[in-house]
Amino acid sequence: MLRIDNLRASVEDKEILKGLSLEVKPGEVHAIMGPNGAGKSTLGNVLSGRAGYEVNSGTVEFNGKNLFDFEVEERAREGLFLAFQYPVEIPGVSNMEFLKVSVDAVRKHRGLPELSSVEFMKLARATSQKVKLDQAFLKRGVNEGFSGGEKKRNEILQMMLLEPSLCILDETDSGLDIDALQTVAEGVNAMRSEDRSFIVVTHYQRLLDYIVPDYVHVLSDGKIVKSGDKSLAKELEAKGYGWLESGEV
Ligand code: ADP
Ligand code: MG
Ligand code: MG
Repeated sequence: MLRIDNLRASVEDKEILKGLSLEVKPGEVHAIMGPNGAGKSTLGNVLSGRAGYEVNSGTVEFNGKNLFDFEVEERAREGLFLAFQYPVEIPGVSNMEFLKVSVDAVRKHRGLPELSSVEFMKLARATSQKVKLDQAFLKRGVNEGFSGGEKKRNEILQMMLLEPSLCILDETDSGLDIDALQTVAEGVNAMRSEDRSFIVVTHYQRLLDYIVPDYVHVLSDGKIVKSGDKSLAKELEAKGYGWLESGEV
């Protein structure tokens, strides 16, 4: 599914990712934890091809292809989904229109017929209900004036509609109330399948009580410094990250 090998990447000429390697197989859920500024969001941004992030060396294979051969918009069509820590607002473009255009592009790429407006509206409404987002949010501008929790629900809505093969969720639990957190977790859990994988970036062990990962990794200073199973998250909660940085790995 995803194979990252010795990835080095910079932002504004400062190297942030310093030889990161990670392999995610189909059906797996990987959690990435780590101190602030370690490079967790940078990893998501580099994978999504966000402007300003420069890859210096290393490789990323996605479904057997070089991810960096794909333009940013192509990555989504290829099945990569990124839920950002700070989702963008697009005032003036209704959420429904935005979702339909995204879903149309993905379906076309997969050789599926385009959904009619009516079919899409039905699907979008039913899916909004699943993520407990009031249908009124489909008519509003994309994320315009949405609260943190509503933005997250909207992201899960997008994710469910796009049916990606790899979903990367960044700090989904930051500033979320427990209800929104559970909705996100339920959304992820409902979408778990043997051919879909997840990378969940989180500061808090709490989220991993709801989304139980197959693997937990600690990202520190641009590298994965420790990997384990879900018990590692508990250990981190109890001990913090200091013991890893001081070299007692
Ligand atoms: P994390 O998500 O683990 O908290 P980030 O990936 O956001 O860490 O940040 C890693 C480092 O990269 C930080 O020192 C941060 O200041 C820097 N950084 C990230 N994005 C930018 C940017 N757009 N411009 C300048 N510095 C950045
Ligand atoms: Mg951060
Ligand atoms: Mg971050």
